[in-house]
Amino acid sequence: MAKRSWSIDEVELLKKLWADGFSAEDMVSQFRGKTRNAICGKLRRLGIDATARLKPKRHGPTIRPTRPRPVAELAIINATLPPNQLRKLQGLDETTCRWPLGDPRHDSFCFCGGHAPVEVPYCSAHSSFAYQRS
Ligand SMILES: [Zn+2]
Repeated sequence: MAKRSWSIDEVELLKKLWADGFSAEDMVSQFRGKTRNAICGKLRRLGIDATARLKPKRHGPTIRPTRPRPVAELAIINATLPPNQLRKLQGLDETTCRWPLGDPRHDSFCFCGGHAPVEVPYCSAHSSFAYQRS
């Protein structure tokens, strides 16, 4: 896998998600092209011990059970999206939100699909996470 360096926006999002209680595993779905190892490594370089929040590996079915997530604004937004709004990659156009949801390696991976202005790739809810500055 080609290594891509972290943009300032990505580092800010990483720090925010971590502060909101996401584990490195949870954050994989928020960073396209980043592995859990890459996220743990970046957190380590930021002085955060990511392994402290690693979850024990589950055995059994490969289908991820629905499980309660840490209380985080983004998680709430993602969880309350109407199912009939969600789009697969092929279903996206210039007016749909391209915020990725889930694990790109899984069949359930999809995009928000909410209404997005033509010049912006995300709906208003996700834009506030994509473009926030601290
Ligand atoms: Zn969205």
